[in-house]
Amino acid sequence: MVHNFNAGPSILPAEVFRQASEAIVNYNNMGLSILEIGHRTDAFQSVMDEAQSLVKELMGLDSNKEVLFLHGGASTQFFQVPMNLLDDNAKAAYLDCGVWGTKAIKEAKLYGSVEVVASSKDRNYAYIPKGYAIPSDASYFHYTTNNTVEGTQMHAIPETSIPLVADMSSDILSTTMDFNRFSLIYAGAQKNIGAAGVNLVIVDNEILNKVSRKLPTMMDYREHIKNGSMLNTPPVFAVYVCMLTLRWLKGLGGVKAIQEINEQKAKLLYDTVESIPLFNLPVATEDRSLMNAVFTMPDAELEKAFLATCKTNGMYGVKGHRSVGGFRVSMYNALPLESVVVLTDLMKDFANKNG
Ligand SMILES: *Cc1c(COP(=O)(O)O)cnc(C)c1O
Repeated sequence: MVHNFNAGPSILPAEVFRQASEAIVNYNNMGLSILEIGHRTDAFQSVMDEAQSLVKELMGLDSNKEVLFLHGGASTQFFQVPMNLLDDNAKAAYLDCGVWGTKAIKEAKLYGSVEVVASSKDRNYAYIPKGYAIPSDASYFHYTTNNTVEGTQMHAIPETSIPLVADMSSDILSTTMDFNRFSLIYAGAQKNIGAAGVNLVIVDNEILNKVSRKLPTMMDYREHIKNGSMLNTPPVFAVYVCMLTLRWLKGLGGVKAIQEINEQKAKLLYDTVESIPLFNLPVATEDRSLMNAVFTMPDAELEKAFLATCKTNGMYGVKGHRSVGGFRVSMYNALPLESVVVLTDLMKDFANKNG
């Protein structure tokens, strides 16, 4: 028995792996693999249609929202967003809360001016800034809902009258929220919704047509919308895995149901870390992420020993990101509560032997 706390690509439901592997050999009893059917066939069109409609249903999206499955990872959205939304002489507002937000800011500066409204860099991104003002003359406000590397998460949607844009790569569909408040949402699939190789982009038609620059066809959201997310060959298998995962989530009862499980997992993990003096929690309590728990062990020798114990016990992905150190335990939607129970038992046992 193994337990997968990898940060991304990461765990997906076991039934998704089973169904996806069956489809590689024989898709829907066609005698063909999902990998060898044309993307313009009815067989694949129905996969795309179902994936898009499940996103709309699970997120409760209004009819003006377009659902796209695009290439290039969330990192492509770092520049595709400003390319489509930020005119040369205009300004965008960004919140700087971690390594991913920093990368998004760097790319946006290629297209217009960027006002960083607040940053938590002063304390190694261990908290979410609060009480900042969002300029009303900016084209949009961009933030990262969950900081995968640093283990912080925004637990409320900022109040503003300008369009909201969010990178939800590592917490999409993990907690209920009013997704219609956002003009654009993007997420790499490989953390909460599927296999690497595809991005989910949800965009409000109304914010397009506002920049004067010429856009390469493949970078233009309007072209993807016009072509039903099939401007060119989509990453068919990655989209298929998303569809299976979305079906699984719907079967469980949707976002509200998974949120309850996610809260239980996070509570158990954080309570355990707090109860063991060997561990330290650098992240501000109110900003802790439900998805990625970051904690440290000040004693370097014990840290090594604990990582070795995790390895012997079949725990993958517990080691922290190289920029933060310590440990990072990712608890995405597909991670069963049981895995957190086993890990926290191991932590308590380790503390008893070494405390
Ligand atoms: C993983 C991650 C990314 C990068 O995703 P790629 O698909 O590798 O480009 C961007 N933003 C956040 C919040 C992430 O967690």
